Amino acid sequence: MALPDKYKAVWVSHSSMGDFLKCPRLYYLRNIYKDPKTGRKMNIVTPALSLGVAVHEVLEGLAKFPSDVRLNRNLLDDFEKEWEKVTGEKGGFKSKEEEEDYKKRGIEMIKTVINNPRFLGNKIIKLPQEKMNPNFYLSEDDNLILNGLIDWIEYLPKTDSLHIIDFKTGKNEENEKSLQLPIYLLLCNALQKRKVSKASYWYLDSDKIVEKELPDKDEARRDVMEVAIKVKEAREKGVTGGGFNCPRGEEGCIFCRPFETILNGGGKNVGLGAFNQDLYIV
Ligand code: SF4
Repeated sequence: MALPDKYKAVWVSHSSMGDFLKCPRLYYLRNIYKDPKTGRKMNIVTPALSLGVAVHEVLEGLAKFPSDVRLNRNLLDDFEKEWEKVTGEKGGFKSKEEEEDYKKRGIEMIKTVINNPRFLGNKIIKLPQEKMNPNFYLSEDDNLILNGLIDWIEYLPKTDSLHIIDFKTGKNEENEKSLQLPIYLLLCNALQKRKVSKASYWYLDSDKIVEKELPDKDEARRDVMEVAIKVKEAREKGVTGGGFNCPRGEEGCIFCRPFETILNGGGKNVGLGAFNQDLYIV
């Protein structure tokens, strides 16, 4: 049998499926729609997003260094460098005061890590990856590829197993129905041989570690497949076939309003994102 074409596959991830679950039209606007003038997708930058990106870049950047020297780094210096990339309008900040507030929160999170780096000095493993995020065929028959980047994967030598960690920079706790852990478990199982024995969220604002019960691997696959197939079906129907219709009709809601504003000529273009999308503040 001929191998499926990876370029024609539908790629799904935690964020794209999260968009779809909020609303198919939101999924369309963020993941498919291209501005006819620039030929690029669009995204909206917000202060919360920029704070998350800067803190994640610092912490995930530690994985580049061997465990015995990793904690020698000056994380506050690293944070300053990352903040430069999101400062001002390109980070979605509308005033100096707003930016200062968010930056202060970021510095506090980094200090929290410096004061107690917990497992960050322990051995880790990385999932294989080339240009794209780690990925695998969720279903060859349906030509569906699941991809995702796990923030941190600690190696637990006593049990020769893995501990998945997700850094949280927002104030809200992850929704219990989130597909994040099922997706991470599927990625780990597909792309390496060790068993995942533990999963935690590290809420950096409050320095709280919340250990999560691991999902059953068959249930994880079933739950992720269910959404991935819906995404695929919506894409097959397309806009004209009603695949991305608003489920709320006239009522509308907060999720797509900023995107619709841009479609109507509003918002301000503040540059290009990491994936070559046009970035806007609204
Ligand atoms: S207003 Fe409708 S189309 Fe827009 S995000 Fe909400 S539900 Fe979706």
